[in-house]
Amino acid sequence: MKPDTSMTQLLEQLRDQLRHYNYQYYVLDDPQVPDAEYDRAFRQLKALEDEHPELITSDSPTQRVGAEPLAAFTQVRHEMPMLSLDNAFSADDMYSFEKRLRDRLKLSDEIPLEFACEPKLDGIAVSLLYENGQLIRGATRGDGSTGEDITLNVRTVESIPLRLIGSGYPERLEVRGEIYMPRRSFTRLNEEALKRGDKPFVNPRNAAAGSLRQLDPKITAQRSLEMCCYSVGIVSGGELPNSHEAILRKLATWGLKINAEMAVVQGAEGCLEYFEALSVRRNQLAYEIDGIVFKVNDIELQQRLGFVSRAPRWAIAHKFPAQEEITIVNAIEFQVGRTGAITPVARLEPVFVGGVTVSNATLHNMDEVERLDIRAGDSVIIRRAGDVIPQVVSVVLERRPADTEAVQLPQRCPVCDSEIIRVDSEAVARCSGGLSCAAQRKEALKHYVSRKAMDIDGLGEKLIDGLVEKELVHSPADLYRLHHLQLASMERMGDKSAAKLLQSIEKSKATELANFIYALGIREVGEATARTLAMHFGSLEAVMSADEEQLQAAPDIGPIVAQYIVSFFHQVHNREVIEALRAAGVHWQDVEVDHHELPLAGQTWVLTGTLEQMPRSEAKKQLLALGAKVAGSVSKKTDCVVAGPGAGSKLQKAEELNIPVMDEQQLIALLAEYNQ
Ligand code: NAD
Repeated sequence: MKPDTSMTQLLEQLRDQLRHYNYQYYVLDDPQVPDAEYDRAFRQLKALEDEHPELITSDSPTQRVGAEPLAAFTQVRHEMPMLSLDNAFSADDMYSFEKRLRDRLKLSDEIPLEFACEPKLDGIAVSLLYENGQLIRGATRGDGSTGEDITLNVRTVESIPLRLIGSGYPERLEVRGEIYMPRRSFTRLNEEALKRGDKPFVNPRNAAAGSLRQLDPKITAQRSLEMCCYSVGIVSGGELPNSHEAILRKLATWGLKINAEMAVVQGAEGCLEYFEALSVRRNQLAYEIDGIVFKVNDIELQQRLGFVSRAPRWAIAHKFPAQEEITIVNAIEFQVGRTGAITPVARLEPVFVGGVTVSNATLHNMDEVERLDIRAGDSVIIRRAGDVIPQVVSVVLERRPADTEAVQLPQRCPVCDSEIIRVDSEAVARCSGGLSCAAQRKEALKHYVSRKAMDIDGLGEKLIDGLVEKELVHSPADLYRLHHLQLASMERMGDKSAAKLLQSIEKSKATELANFIYALGIREVGEATARTLAMHFGSLEAVMSADEEQLQAAPDIGPIVAQYIVSFFHQVHNREVIEALRAAGVHWQDVEVDHHELPLAGQTWVLTGTLEQMPRSEAKKQLLALGAKVAGSVSKKTDCVVAGPGAGSKLQKAEELNIPVMDEQQLIALLAEYNQ
């Protein structure tokens, strides 16, 4: 095909786009689009250039490596260029790679071709120069011929020996490898950044690059970076073995770190097997990898093959399917959870990422929406690694359409129209509708029937949604009023499944106190807390009538949970639901508790004045733990008053009523005695 001006323009457009991405990625360490998007544009440019070789320019990104070094660093000229790698994205690409090599080397099919395989670490390429075993210089790859001098920075990386160990190393030895940030350090770094209100790093690669290319090496030193070596550059005044694998093993004997997963295989077939095996374990590795690098193992063959403009002919990087992709936010909606929590969710243009099609991503809360500044219409980067739920990593601001609007928390619940309340100190906003909100009702019912609660088998999410929508069930008690015909007429139900479900509803009536308390779905009352309440109070009546102080006397119940429990039982409709459930036949055995064993059981104490040695809250907690009730005012029912300096009217009243009074010292002595 004869090239026309529109082709030249298209090529220039693609090149400009890629140069811009390169600048953001290599110079600023702040890429705006995922690698998958970059790779697509790169492949498109490469394919067009392959069709029109006469239009290739020497400054095309397909002919160059990385980007120019930052002027702030001293520049280092690489005596041997530091190249990039060609990519393979499929098994076919791997077979063509082997074929190209065999053709060029004129190897017949019977002669095996050996490859060294190494995980492709996602970090930053670095050159280390050792003279007589001493580390004298560290440099980045830069644009392949000139890099940045980062000697002081690399000296802070613990896995880089400042002096080689053992003997037999060449007088001048340039070692190349990747400096990367292990996942754990990355997570910690980002957690700390978020706490400080700083912008988190997009991924471990950028975190590693950003940490290493610091003018202040003290910052690098704080960042837990590691180095893994994968090749050599300049070698003089000594010899190295004649296979890639043997060279790396030799480096290891001199104290340099190499990858423990390295292996040698035969042909593209062997490479693909290695690729499959490591894909399965990819997410369990302590570091991120984005593919596998395969290199012809024989150094003599490598030399015969040589390299093209930006990459050696004897190596290829077979990339894994992307874990980050770009897509469009169609809408941001709000979902209502069991406790009324309003969760913003991004509805996405479906995108294939991390092995599945993703069309929704939770945004957790309004703080996260504000941090990301995400809007309907935005292009966003979605990440899904392993089984982790898909996450919005960032917004591509450059692609934001002109007419987007910042997301506002709705004032009213999208399901029941009740007011939405956001307490200042909490990140979560809540619908105030309680069980009058159909969304909360559905979630409350799902919780009620779940295995660790009332364990009603056969009542799945869809069926609950249907029962609530048809207004057959408003509260859990309605479940016990359902009859066969109603159930059998529901979607995907029949006579048999209706009968089975009725049986399991019936069976659930006989339960245990702890399960019942858990099933009520009180905020912050999980399975363990429900059990504690059951064991400590013995009966539902006792839990329901306990005040916050008494609740806090139970092990591991803090003031917030105590407050939630009291306010739950305070609400009339919750009491009504409990009544109705009991009337429907839900029952359990009370748990035997012997509170009389507690030395102060049944007593009421009052604390007044200043306590000087023990915080008042501690004194109160200890009294509660001994079975006492701690009241705020003195009455005839008071058993003892503890009075510190400054005690006034309460002390006076105690004296009038002849109630025993003790001071702080006496209280401490008493507590010590009981706690022995
Ligand atoms: P590359 O990352 O595809 O491969 C070459 C690099 O792999 C080497 O320089 C080295 O650093 C690294 N590597 C890791 N393990 C290795 C091993 N065992 N042996 C040899 N090398 C190993 O190429 P590149 O030129 O560094 O970068 C191009 C890639 O970077 C693109 O494919 C794209 O994914 C990404 N990129 C993304 C953006 C963006 O905006 N998102 C921009 C530019 C580049």
